[in-house]
Amino acid sequence: MALDSIKGSLREKGVRLTRQRQILLELIDKSGLHLDAERLYQMAKEQDPKLNRVTVYRTLKMLKEGGLVDELDLMHHAGDQHYYETRMKQEHAHVICLRCGKVEEFFGEPLQRLRRQIESHFGFQILLARTEVGGYCAHCQTLRARELEQARQMGQVAPRPHPDGGVAPRVRAKHSA
Ligand SMILES: [Zn+2]
Ligand SMILES: [Zn+2]
Repeated sequence: MALDSIKGSLREKGVRLTRQRQILLELIDKSGLHLDAERLYQMAKEQDPKLNRVTVYRTLKMLKEGGLVDELDLMHHAGDQHYYETRMKQEHAHVICLRCGKVEEFFGEPLQRLRRQIESHFGFQILLARTEVGGYCAHCQTLRARELEQARQMGQVAPRPHPDGGVAPRVRAKHSA
């Protein structure tokens, strides 16, 4: 249903929904996940082996510029890649575990309330809002407590904190900034 409205809005913009674009849109829409470009490319290739990386990246850019797909960085918990989801989804906050990279979605009234408060406070018209929260999931809190305890027992220095406030041992590529 969300996909149909995307297709409609593409038609209005005079954008032809090629088979390759359709494959990507459907992957993003149906997965309900936040997939990065490389993952999307791998999945799309299973459906159409002729698809190449350049086309996938170009299509994602087109979908993003057309306001159909949202590009997220999810606090760069795993490096520099971006993640994609359809803009048709109800507004939600992303809750990211900086240790294991698990992403949860929070839908709830407080987000709408925040939006209304910002609009009235600044006399601002919000077109797009993105809320990201980073921290440790319940599982990682347990593991982390154990690790810190072990490090203490061995007289080691505690793991270096992540610039965002956590410890991110999975980080592959870090921002130099
Ligand atoms: Zn976690
Ligand atoms: Zn999401």
